[in-house]
Amino acid sequence: MAISEFELITRYFSGIGPDLAAASSTIAMAGGDDCALLQIPPGQQLALSIDTLNAGVHFPEDASADDIARRSLAVAVSDLAAMGAKPLAFTLAISLPHIDEAWLQAFSYGLKHSAEFYGINLIGGDTTRGPLSIAVQVHGLVPSGQALRRNGARVGDRIFVTGTLGDAALALDVLQQRVDVAGANKAFLLSRFYQPQARLAVGQSLLALASAAIDISDGLLADLSHILKASGVAARIDSRQLPLSEVLQTTVNNNKALTHALTGGDDYELCFTVTPSQREQISQISQALSVPMTDIGCIVEGEGLFCTGANGEVMDFARLGYQHF
Ligand code: ADP
Ligand code: MG
Repeated sequence: MAISEFELITRYFSGIGPDLAAASSTIAMAGGDDCALLQIPPGQQLALSIDTLNAGVHFPEDASADDIARRSLAVAVSDLAAMGAKPLAFTLAISLPHIDEAWLQAFSYGLKHSAEFYGINLIGGDTTRGPLSIAVQVHGLVPSGQALRRNGARVGDRIFVTGTLGDAALALDVLQQRVDVAGANKAFLLSRFYQPQARLAVGQSLLALASAAIDISDGLLADLSHILKASGVAARIDSRQLPLSEVLQTTVNNNKALTHALTGGDDYELCFTVTPSQREQISQISQALSVPMTDIGCIVEGEGLFCTGANGEVMDFARLGYQHF
């Protein structure tokens, strides 16, 4: 027999996240009433962001419920990371075509795992019937006036990215059967797509250090260009410096690998700018957090994004399928 909406919420959407009692100074009341109540500590600002994932658009129709849950939370938390905010709580608006308890069980399991990993509690939401869609709104805290913004890049700043780029785009090739990869390489790529690691610790360490930051959801060129527009500057990047995973480099040719790294979305790495004198601090943070951080270029005067290719030539973005300029 089908369970009621409220039973469903109690069974699958309660107790998600770390110990609520420990968070009682900021989460005054979670779940069950008309609103949740948050307490913003003095000297802190509330950072908010929402992301919707629709079946067939943001993930394949046949993706597992566990993967969908993890990806939904990670992509939302990634926006907190990009601002240097600390996770506080999240709400979940979910639309389900029908009640499938095995699916809900797996979704709840993935969500719980991910919420504990990021240290963020589910404090409310909305449950409706309709085509499968998941919207996650995250709330975070950041010291007042210190959030990492897109508009602070200055001429002479170095441009860094975390991790490796292009893996999620290659994963999409695999999921859509354009590229054939098996075994450990396939597992690596699918985990890069379904379980991106929001770079929370990096974002928080960059507070009062980075001049600008953004998370790479739409592709490096697209997202870096948001920093450039907001800051009124241009950039030169060197494609030879782009951090590429072993799997990306060995699965496709160099041109394809660079295209994915430059224009492929879904990696959820951070791109940020710092003054050249802060390079040493960045390398220390990189070591301390065991997160690769690679210098890929610099901020220059003017407008636009210039990228040098494998032989030092200026790359043609049109050929790379890049639409933004
Ligand atoms: P209302 O009708 O007042 O908007 P609902 O009936 O939608 O409230 O929800 C009842 C309670 O269950 C609320 O506290 C709401 O936050 C919570 N809730 C509903 N759906 C979810 C969900 N998917 N995840 C977590 N909490 C949920
Ligand atoms: Mg109500």
